[in-house]
Amino acid sequence: MSRGVHVVGNAAVDIIYRVDRLPRSGETRLAGRPHRDCGGKGLNQAVAAARAGARVVFHAPVGRDREAEMLAAALAGHDGLTVRWWPRPLATDHSIILVEDGGENIVVSTTECAHSVSEAEAAHAVDGTQAGDVLLMQPGLTDAATRAALARGRARGLVSILNVAPPLDPGPLLGLADVMVANKDEAVALFGAPVADGRHPPKGVARLVVTRGARGALLWEAGGCTVLPAPTVDPVDTTGAGDAFAGTLAAGIALGVDLRRALAAAMRSAADSVTRRGTHAAIATLTPPRW
Ligand code: ADP
Repeated sequence: MSRGVHVVGNAAVDIIYRVDRLPRSGETRLAGRPHRDCGGKGLNQAVAAARAGARVVFHAPVGRDREAEMLAAALAGHDGLTVRWWPRPLATDHSIILVEDGGENIVVSTTECAHSVSEAEAAHAVDGTQAGDVLLMQPGLTDAATRAALARGRARGLVSILNVAPPLDPGPLLGLADVMVANKDEAVALFGAPVADGRHPPKGVARLVVTRGARGALLWEAGGCTVLPAPTVDPVDTTGAGDAFAGTLAAGIALGVDLRRALAAAMRSAADSVTRRGTHAAIATLTPPRW
């Protein structure tokens, strides 16, 4: 029987400005009307897992405002995705994103809602799960709340996937995640360059996946390191590739697919996402894998 994916994470509104080039310190650049889209790593990964065919429950804090209504309306259209909002007397989190014509970007995010999730709430979110379900977490909540959810997940026999990136400190979480996923820069910062480039195994992590953009990914596990090549595509916008990857990986594991096949599908979804503009916009239209 297939299992569900549970995502405990953040949801935000992305406000995206396109500029001819990014401003330097002290400089003002002009932009046209901003484009608004759904965002937040938790939201993007939950949508990616649902697009990949999993039954997904997404827990996230939002304000009581129009931004929260926009997020709820957008997520209501996704098959297989159930959202459990935690309403707060706060403004829904948002990110200001500047994208220059060449594709480089600058992002500033608020975290008031995301950081309001207590350890007890995060752990309680995992209580409606069954052994074998997948718990997918990512940077966004506080380290303490992330740890509490992973610890409850471990106690309930869940398979946990942690997309780990600074400022999240992986140290206290090492024994709590079955699979850690980090992109190359994050892996260098958290585990060191020799781990990120496949020369030295990570300590204390059962399995670590290092994503490497167009070069695919590395899988570290007890047997050593495997290089996994990515499909070749013409990239248009690489934002959100990691979220497409993590969500699809979680879906594959929940659907009972073995890790290597789930990783291959994750790379196909991520490659698909980079061929289209936008983060959530690209993830929300991913081609579902043929499991
Ligand atoms: P992040 O989006 O977190 O920075 P990466 O850039 O490593 O992470 O991308 C995650 C995954 O997306 C990669 O492992 C790869 O499978 C896929 N991907 C990213 N960029 C490309 C690309 N240009 N061509 C093909 N696949 C890509």
